[in-house]
Amino acid sequence: MATNFADYKNIWVYAEQRQGKLMNVALELIGEGRRLSRDISEDTKVCALLVGNEIDHLAQECFEYGADEVIMIQDELLANYTTDGYAKVIYDAIVEMKPEIVIYGATHIGRDLAPRVAARCNTGLTADCTRLDIKVSNYIEYNKANTTLNTDTLDPNDPDTGIKQTRPAFGGNLMATIICPRTRPQMSTVRPGVMQKIERMEGATGEIINVKPEISASDIRTKLVEIVKHAKELVSLTDAEIICSGGRGLGDASGFELIKEFADKVGGVVGSSRAAVDAGWIDHSHQVGQTGTTVKPKIYFACGISGAIQHLAGMQTSDIIVAINKDPDAPIFEVADFGIVGDLYKVIPEIIKEWDNAEELHDHAMAK
Ligand SMILES: Cc1cc2nc3c(=O)[nH]c(=O)nc-3n(C[C@H](O)[C@H](O)[C@H](O)COP(=O)(O)OP(=O)(O)OC[C@H]3O[C@@H](n4cnc5c(N)ncnc54)[C@H](O)[C@@H]3O)c2cc1C
Repeated sequence: MATNFADYKNIWVYAEQRQGKLMNVALELIGEGRRLSRDISEDTKVCALLVGNEIDHLAQECFEYGADEVIMIQDELLANYTTDGYAKVIYDAIVEMKPEIVIYGATHIGRDLAPRVAARCNTGLTADCTRLDIKVSNYIEYNKANTTLNTDTLDPNDPDTGIKQTRPAFGGNLMATIICPRTRPQMSTVRPGVMQKIERMEGATGEIINVKPEISASDIRTKLVEIVKHAKELVSLTDAEIICSGGRGLGDASGFELIKEFADKVGGVVGSSRAAVDAGWIDHSHQVGQTGTTVKPKIYFACGISGAIQHLAGMQTSDIIVAINKDPDAPIFEVADFGIVGDLYKVIPEIIKEWDNAEELHDHAMAK
């Protein structure tokens, strides 16, 4: 039976929480949901979907970051994430309340949960989106410049074509825009750090809809025995304000000693290109890009990195990009706000020296 699109309304954001703490990506997606809702209709609501146990305190944060409603699903059996348990209660809620769009963070949990729910709903899911659009006009303009469009399957004047989900395809060499024209809800996952949170609106409130889930222990086939946390995160690229990344241009692994010194000096963390990871110079947890981490720091230093599309996919929305490369034609300069053409082994020590001088001047001025 054909889906009646008119029955589906509102945007749901899966507000992923772990041990009673919201993931940053959930707040970013609530912000993105707000932007999308404005382009759909005035009465389209952004609903944060909270699943867990004893998590009432999280609703307020969702409202303050832009949710109009919170759909709260709580049960002792949902205290910790399980694929079976969470997929069941979310699917049941979708069947009952019929959201038009459901967005998840592309975290380990989001990537596990979203396809399971999409399959149960018999609808499509676009993974790892880097852009979501509603407006047809924006979409066409964007496509002209950046993406491929299969006009056989899309009538851009048809409002029912819904959300345009853009993601890298074919190893990142193309940006593909994907639609879900025949089924609802439309579902996407979005990587952490790609979308922007709105400014927090202290004291904002909204409606909480409590959904009593129908769930029993027999619905969950896995048993949580123990939660083992990493002693420490290897590197926190997602939250870093300054990232100093090194690439193949470093020449060998010892080049990262200079990058580390640079990062320590400017208060940043060390990132890398995949070429440096593949060469075994640094751990994959430092890799920025399509198959690494997506980052959005205030300043991104790309040192000896050519600017391949897969690298750019993970860092081009940084506030300020500074590129250091000895090849003046390196593609990284096309996205850089500041470009320094030169040997990084000469340029970086100069920057460190200038930084020291600036600190000295600052201390001197403060002492006066
Ligand atoms: C499916 C797929 C996924 C991928 N995912 C990622 C990803 O997540 N992240 C990623 O980074 N890549 C990814 N890649 C690889 C990507 O295509 C590039 O191969 C990689 O980014 C290149 O790394 P690089 O810029 O360090 O090396 P190169 O492209 O070799 O560039 C080195 C640069 O250093 C410069 N240089 C050399 N010596 C110096 C010096 N002394 N001083 C200053 N500059 C110097 C050179 O001019 C050159 O521009 C992926 C590829 C595929 C196919």
